[in-house]
Amino acid sequence: MKNYSGKRVLVTGGAGFLGSHLCERLLTEKHEVLCVDNFYTGRRTNIAHLLNIPLFEIMRHDITFPLYAEVDEIYNLACPASPIHYQFDPVQTTKTSVHGAINMLGLAKRVKAKILQASTSEIYGDPVVHPQPETYWGNVNPVGLRSCYDEGKRCAETLFFDYLRQHNLRIKVARIFNTYGPRMHPNDGRVVSNFIMQALRADDITVYGDGSQTRSFCYVDDLVDGLIRLMDSPDDFTGPVNLGNPVEFSILELAEKVINIIGSKSKIIFKPLPSDDPKQRQPEISLAQKFLKWEPRIPIDEGLKKTIVYFESLQ
Ligand code: NAD
Ligand code: UDP
Ligand code: UDP
Repeated sequence: MKNYSGKRVLVTGGAGFLGSHLCERLLTEKHEVLCVDNFYTGRRTNIAHLLNIPLFEIMRHDITFPLYAEVDEIYNLACPASPIHYQFDPVQTTKTSVHGAINMLGLAKRVKAKILQASTSEIYGDPVVHPQPETYWGNVNPVGLRSCYDEGKRCAETLFFDYLRQHNLRIKVARIFNTYGPRMHPNDGRVVSNFIMQALRADDITVYGDGSQTRSFCYVDDLVDGLIRLMDSPDDFTGPVNLGNPVEFSILELAEKVINIIGSKSKIIFKPLPSDDPKQRQPEISLAQKFLKWEPRIPIDEGLKKTIVYFESLQ
C-alpha cells in the first residue's frame, strides 16, 4: 500500500470527540491531516497517539481568525457541541459557527478545496415533524439559551449554500444527530457520558424531566464513515443530509440500559428539564441510504459497551 494518498485534509476541531476519530480514520487512508484546534473543549490526549505519525500535524488556532493553509479538503467540525460548553460563552459559540464558517469558506474558495460542514439536528429545534427529514425547516427559538448554537449552525448552513450559489464552491452539509463513543468529554454534561460516569461511580442517575423525551444515538465509527462517504460523494450531492441512527429511545430507557449493562447499584432520580429541550428526535435517513449507501451498523448495546470500557479506563 502507498504511504501517502497525495491528499491534504484539514480537520477543524480535530482534537475533539468526533474530530479525533475522523483524523485517525483519514490517517489510516494515508491522507496528510492538518488538525486545527483551539483546545476549547478538545484535549491533547484525544490525539496523543497520532502525534508520531509523519502525515499528521497539529496547529493551535481559533477559526474565528483567518487561516492560511494549502489543502484539498476541509472538514469543519470546530464548535463546542454539548449544551454546558456551548452555553458557557454563547457569543463565542456564535462567532465560531459564523465567523469560523466564513473563514473556512474563504480558505476553501482561495485554494479551491472541497468543504464539509458539521451541522446538527439542533437546526430542527423542538421538531413538530417526526422523524425529521431534510426538507423540514425546523422549530427553533431564536432568543433562548440554545439559540447561540442552533442559530449559529443554521447561519453556517446559509453561508455554505450562498458560497455554493455565489462562488460555485464544492460544499457538503451533514446534519449530525446525537453521537456517542470513546473520547467524549467525561464532564461535558451530555447524556451518554453523564449516565455512564454516574453508573460507574454508583452515583444517582440524573434524568431531566420525566425522561419521556427521546433521542436516537449513533456510534462514532458509523458517523465518521458517513462523513467520509459524504466528502467522497459526487460534487452535485451537497446535502444537507441527515447522519444519525434512527433507532429511537426515551431518556429513561437509556438510563435503565446503562444501569443494566454496567450492573450498577445507581438509582434513577429526576431533575428539572432544561429550557427548550427538544421532546423528540429521530433522523429520517433515506437520503443518506440512497446517495451515500450509508446506514449505521453498530447497535446501541455494542456501542455502549465500547464506550463504557473507555470511561472505565479513565477511572
Ligand atoms: P467537541 O466539543 O468534542 O469538539 C469540538 C472541537 O472544536 C474541540 O476540539 C474544540 O476545542 C474545538 N473548537 C471549538 N471552538 C473552536 C474554535 N473557535 N477554533 C478552533 N477549534 C475550536 O464536540 P464533538 O462532539 O466532537 O462535535 C464536533 C462537531 O460536530 C461540532 O461542530 C458539533 O456541533 C457537531 N455535532 C456533534 C454532535 C454529537 O453528538 N457529538 C451532534 C451534532 C453535531
Ligand atoms: N480567509 C482565510 N483564509 C484564506 C482566505 C480567506 O481565513 O485562505 C478568510 C478571510 O480573512 C475572509 C474570509 O475568509 O475574512 C472570507 O473570505 P472571502 O474571500 O470569501 O471574502 P472577502 O475576503 O472578500 O471578504
Ligand atoms: N439529559 C438527562 N440527564 C443528563 C443529561 C442529559 O436526562 O444527565 C437529557 C437532556 O435533557 C436531553 C437528552 O438527555 O433531553 C440529551 O441531552 P444531551 O445534552 O446529550 O444532547 P441534546 O439535548 O443536545 O440532544
